[in-house]
Amino acid sequence: MDGCNHQPAPGAIRSVDALIDAGLAVAGDRSALDAVAARYATAIPVAFRALIDHPDDPIGLQVIPHPAELDTAAHELADPIGDDAFSPVPGIVHRYADRALLKPLLICPLYCRFCFRREHVGPDGGLLDDAALARALDWLGAHPAIGEVILTGGDPLMLSPRRLGHIVTGLDAIPHVHTIRLHTRVPVADPARITDALLDTLETEKAMWLVVHANHATELTAAARTALRRIQARAIPVLGQSVLLRGVNDSSEALEALFRAMVGARVKPYYLHQLDPAPGTARFHVPIAEGRRLMASLRGRVTGLAWPTYVLDIPGGHGKVPIGPDYLDPAAGTVRDPDGIPHVLAAGNL
Ligand SMILES: *Cc1c(COP(=O)(O)O)cnc(C)c1O
Ligand code: SF4
Repeated sequence: MDGCNHQPAPGAIRSVDALIDAGLAVAGDRSALDAVAARYATAIPVAFRALIDHPDDPIGLQVIPHPAELDTAAHELADPIGDDAFSPVPGIVHRYADRALLKPLLICPLYCRFCFRREHVGPDGGLLDDAALARALDWLGAHPAIGEVILTGGDPLMLSPRRLGHIVTGLDAIPHVHTIRLHTRVPVADPARITDALLDTLETEKAMWLVVHANHATELTAAARTALRRIQARAIPVLGQSVLLRGVNDSSEALEALFRAMVGARVKPYYLHQLDPAPGTARFHVPIAEGRRLMASLRGRVTGLAWPTYVLDIPGGHGKVPIGPDYLDPAAGTVRDPDGIPHVLAAGNL
């Protein structure tokens, strides 16, 4: 795997033994956790370990394996958003006319216990070899409607600078691609990886955007903010994406703190995702009605810069859509204000 420096910083927790030694799991859970580990990858980089005070706190819950991961609910799906059906060649997912995903690897700096691709991601898998990458780039080159390529995975910033540079150069050479977007957790999970050598590879005349995945305000540490600042200094706008998670950010206060921390780091909250129903993730589920109430509780009270779109990726692969809250009731001809009070709109205002 010369294309990837996928070992997180020394000290990352990757095994059940290391979890128990660190006091993040109890020995009595060992056999259940071994069964979890046989199915799903674990990595807790030092930057995240330092933020965990208790295994059930908002950082611990996101990354520490749990015996409940072995329970798959009836509605849970191995491929919850239907990526596989939309993959014309390995490494590409194409569902929307103007954009496509390119997944050059399936390695992440940490493994979220709620990950929608949890059946696929892991330290051993998914690095596209040279031939497969060439095929993926050829496919993009042959589809002129695709103006935007979204690098995801796995986490594209886990690639070596050489490999990432090769991909950016390949995309640069496709005339109809005008925008490159990177989805990553590295700036918060392992900020030391954001080096000049890595950032140099992102130099391009195309519009380069980066979306950082963070779910709790404490992830925006001084080191993470410095890493984000270095990315922004390369003329790369940074957006934020988060998943609504039981026990992590399912309160008005936690969401407000998260989105304000992003805005304070010049990161525009882009999407708040409803949890995808991946296997063994039910403990994180927050009902949509509650998510809508939480979003509404921020409206009017918190700067509009801190207001993401709350989205559902419709299970089965039908695409992402906003799921409210909505304020307009077109049938009644009324609109609610930020306090929830309805107002009749004159016909001329509808
Ligand atoms: C989420 C996703 C995108 C990006 O969607 P945006 O709404 O543009 O952020 C693109 N392609 C696929 C297959 C996706 O799942
Ligand atoms: S960083 Fe993204 S792809 Fe990786 S484990 Fe977390 S949710 Fe999954």
